[in-house]
Amino acid sequence: MIDTLSQAAIGIVDLVAAFLLMYGLLRMSSPVTAPSGIFVAGIGMLAAILVSFLYIASVDEAVKPHLLINIGLAILALLIGGGVAWWSGKKVAMTAMPQMVALYNGMGGGAAGAIAAVELFGNKAGAAIPLTVTLLGALIGAVSLSGSLIAWAKLDEIIKKPLRFKGQRAFNALFILATIGIGAYMVVVTLGQNPPLMSMSGLIVLFFACALVVGILMTLPIGGADMPVVISIFNAFTGLAVGLEGYVLQNPALMIAGMVVGAAGLLLTLLMAKAMNRSVSNVVFTNFGDTAKRKQGKIKGSLKPMQAGDAGIAMRYASSVVIVPGYGLAVAEAQGKLFEFVKLLQAGGVSVKFAVHPVAGRMPGQMDVLLAEAGVPYDMIFQLEDINDDFKTTDVALVIGANDVVNPAARSDKTSPIFGMPIVNADQAKKVFVVKRGEGKGYAGIVNALFYGDNCNMVYGDAQAVLIKMIEAVRGLGLPAAA
Ligand code: NDP
Repeated sequence: MIDTLSQAAIGIVDLVAAFLLMYGLLRMSSPVTAPSGIFVAGIGMLAAILVSFLYIASVDEAVKPHLLINIGLAILALLIGGGVAWWSGKKVAMTAMPQMVALYNGMGGGAAGAIAAVELFGNKAGAAIPLTVTLLGALIGAVSLSGSLIAWAKLDEIIKKPLRFKGQRAFNALFILATIGIGAYMVVVTLGQNPPLMSMSGLIVLFFACALVVGILMTLPIGGADMPVVISIFNAFTGLAVGLEGYVLQNPALMIAGMVVGAAGLLLTLLMAKAMNRSVSNVVFTNFGDTAKRKQGKIKGSLKPMQAGDAGIAMRYASSVVIVPGYGLAVAEAQGKLFEFVKLLQAGGVSVKFAVHPVAGRMPGQMDVLLAEAGVPYDMIFQLEDINDDFKTTDVALVIGANDVVNPAARSDKTSPIFGMPIVNADQAKKVFVVKRGEGKGYAGIVNALFYGDNCNMVYGDAQAVLIKMIEAVRGLGLPAAA
């Protein structure tokens, strides 16, 4: 049994760890304090991991002979898990971040499911309430694991098309009800005297298998493009599952961390849905691609190509430039070159700012991370609501790899799938330069009227290659830097 001293130490460290996780999360709300927030939360995580060795060390007599093996296994698991995380974190490309988040989130759900499995197979959950909570955590954790893996496969384009069939919603609903029914039956069998129809171990395996299938069924019909929102929903699920298993283990750190993660996932889901002007049910139950294929009204004007060098020189002679980065900047990994170009403009006395849309790119905050990685100071980066009014007095809006987040149809075209989505007012600038490779559409799959506007020129090419040409052209002017 855990002795009183160990119990007190575990309780105190768990609470400190939970506090550090919450404080770390609070610091992550601003890009300036986010790096230290990640560090603080990491210390909290480390404390929670280390104190769990006290649990392993204070087991009942029956398990004592296996103590060294258990500690060895825990260390091995930490080394493998930590090693894989370190290696994959170092090598992941910015554009593959959503896939990585999907995988890690799935692991969290799987971990909650594994705790539940230990409790269920060891028949430790006992009474009705802990047993129900364990089963609920097992269900949500397993759904999050298999659903996140499908989301990862879709984002990585291993699964290329949504899988749909007639009567799918009714089938899925019945399958979910049947899975819940198995769980309820397990509670009845455990608490009552009724002999079970099959062994308890068999029921546990069946329950987990069905829960995993629920996650797959829920995710398969949703289009690949909506996966970032789906991952955020599963993130909320994982947090909830971990919180529930924390209750079963009576572990405050797990309970608090789980609930904080669950709440953060839920808020992020709502924020993403709001930034796209869609409801969460619209994301889960409709195919965005299908809506996007609706007929668009005819767009007036023409596409007017321009050489990269000419656009670069025009910006050097402007007094204000606002840059709108989008998904294409991340694809081209051109953030470093972009900042090099910005520094050249600034040296020439041009005022340069960045306008970041909350859902630019493929995951929230992707553009902020990208720009921070290139060394762009935080005070140059403005969120949409803080900069949108400035465009009317801006000389040049440089739209680089962005499309949907600057599409004026969101303001005026009621038939557009993005109608109502708040956008960056790049079209209101005196001059707009759009950098993209060709006439490729954005995530919403619609044509952008901004590109056809009288004040707009298209600078075709990969963002990285275009920026290199712009830098060369401005350097070629041989102008002295501003004092
Ligand atoms: P978009 O996906 O609308 O457009 C990106 C554009 O980048 C494309 O039109 C493409 O055109 C261009 N592009 C691609 N590769 C390159 C390259 N190498 N060099 C230059 N240009 C390139 O991106 P936005 O950032 O404007 O909008 C994000 C969209 O994603 C929104 O619709 C949002 O709702 C959605 N979304 C965002 C999420 C988030 O959390 N951030 C989550 C889920 C969805 P071309 O092929 O011609 O080069």
